Amino acid sequence: MENEVISKNFIEQMIDKDLAEGVYDTVHTRFPPEPNGYLHIGHAKSILLNYGLAQKYNGKFNMRFDDTNPTKEKVEFVESIKADIEWLGADWEDRLFFASDYFEAMYEAAVKLIKKGKAFVCDLTAEEIRSYRGTLTEPGKESPYRNRSVEENLELFEAMRAGKYADGEKVLRAKIDMASPNMNMRDPVIYRVAHISHHNTGDKWCIYPMYDFAHPIEDAIEGITHSICTLEFEDHRPLYDWVVKELEYPVPPRQIEFAKLYLTNVVTGKRYIKKLVEEGIVDGWDDPRLVSIAALRRRGFTPESIRMFVDLCGISKSQSSVDYAMLEYCIREDLKLKKPRLMAVLDPIKLVIDNYPEGQVEYLDAANNLENEDLGSRKIPFCRELYIEREDFMEEPLKKYFRLFPGNEVRLMHAYFVKCESFVKDESGRITEVHCTYDQETKAGSGFTGRKVKGTIHWVPAPYAMTAEVRLYENIIDEEKGVYNEDGSLNLNPNSLTIVEQAYLEPAFEGAKPYDSYQFVRNGFFCVDARDTTEEKLVFNRIVSLKSSFKLPKA
Ligand code: ATP
Ligand code: MG
Repeated sequence: MENEVISKNFIEQMIDKDLAEGVYDTVHTRFPPEPNGYLHIGHAKSILLNYGLAQKYNGKFNMRFDDTNPTKEKVEFVESIKADIEWLGADWEDRLFFASDYFEAMYEAAVKLIKKGKAFVCDLTAEEIRSYRGTLTEPGKESPYRNRSVEENLELFEAMRAGKYADGEKVLRAKIDMASPNMNMRDPVIYRVAHISHHNTGDKWCIYPMYDFAHPIEDAIEGITHSICTLEFEDHRPLYDWVVKELEYPVPPRQIEFAKLYLTNVVTGKRYIKKLVEEGIVDGWDDPRLVSIAALRRRGFTPESIRMFVDLCGISKSQSSVDYAMLEYCIREDLKLKKPRLMAVLDPIKLVIDNYPEGQVEYLDAANNLENEDLGSRKIPFCRELYIEREDFMEEPLKKYFRLFPGNEVRLMHAYFVKCESFVKDESGRITEVHCTYDQETKAGSGFTGRKVKGTIHWVPAPYAMTAEVRLYENIIDEEKGVYNEDGSLNLNPNSLTIVEQAYLEPAFEGAKPYDSYQFVRNGFFCVDARDTTEEKLVFNRIVSLKSSFKLPKA
């Protein structure tokens, strides 16, 4: 019990206190994305946090599109966001909302403020409003329109709605305090005129509410108790509280801020991701080099791995970056017992076993995953001609190289010992074939103990091999080293994508379909690409290599 208390994050502690003190008798959270791009790993953190809290406290979780800004929003994004959240496993049940559905209520709320003498129509230009605002050290100056009568304000606001004014000609401002040390409280603009069509309401409106006014109203209408957002809104909280208080909601929601998730070595900002997509540097929002949720899914990450990652990151109030290697650690952990470990050769050379009879084949037993018997076993055809990795042979071995070189013996995984007798080169000096002899006594599983070898290499039987295209990835841009070069161009990694046009796979890959993933022995975890795989051609993305630089800190 004591452990449980200690492990609670600061948000859970605040919720516990609210419940204990009777401020709220339930927990109701929401995820409020703006539909102006695809979701990324940072949003996943927010989604799982909000959904997780609702579950933990037996409360509710709403999905709400914060679509009050008509300029940047698109229906394509609405659909992708819904798909991503469902994939992550956050269930909004029947509570899918659009902030734009509340425009009428927001208008009424503004009228209410006007009637209370708490809002006024202002004719200052945007430029003037800025200069009247003051600075962090100096108070602002009151607008000359601040003391308009309630009647006049009501009339002007209605005229704003009716389309009598051009964009920027008039705004509605909250009447708070031009001397407040918090700049957000210096009579902030809460409505503006904008003659723009909206993806949901069309041309019904030509005035739109500002975020700081709209958001608390959306929360209050939906009965949200804990409105969780990121740190940049901390200074806006007094305004949030002011809005819900002045509008006299019976159970006002509470805003709580936490630190955004940043990952090292990758591009996390929606703005940067958008640029890569729009400039055609990546092949869409789901390019596997990105950390949008769509990209992570296409690359082969699982909802479980992302949940594990978010849990490991924890929730905090201070800004920090998490190592990308931790995300890789999570997907390895998730897949290592769940997926078969099969053999695939990415950079092949032919290996010929000179003393193995031509035309002969035998079927060797191999466990699919030595650490998980439930995954069963398969038969691998073994014959005279195989493929092995080019790097598993060296004409002149380096020190401590225990793989194939003339005179050396290694184990072929699940099969026999083979000894390198000779090799063949083409005119350019490139190795084209390695010749070996095998020793029948050394069959895997036969209990042979006669002698030992230091190296085990994987292989694929040449006549039975399947082929596939395999894509290997590196970071596209290292955000830590700078997204831009000095001349303003993007600092791209030229090696972010390597395409292996023809890799060889053992026949156990038969039936592989989009999103299936496997461990390729020694080469990493790979997932069938859902976009480019066809009946004729199998395409794999490397999710992650097997080696890790990341160590889970000891608890
Ligand atoms: P970006 O900064 O990438 O453009 P955003 O904050 O503009 O993202 P919204 O659609 O407004 O994107 O965000 C929806 C929710 O996700 C907000 O509550 C926001 O605070 C949260 N969120 C956005 N980025 C992160 C992040 N990196 N870590 C955690 N939560 C995030
Ligand atoms: Mg935003």
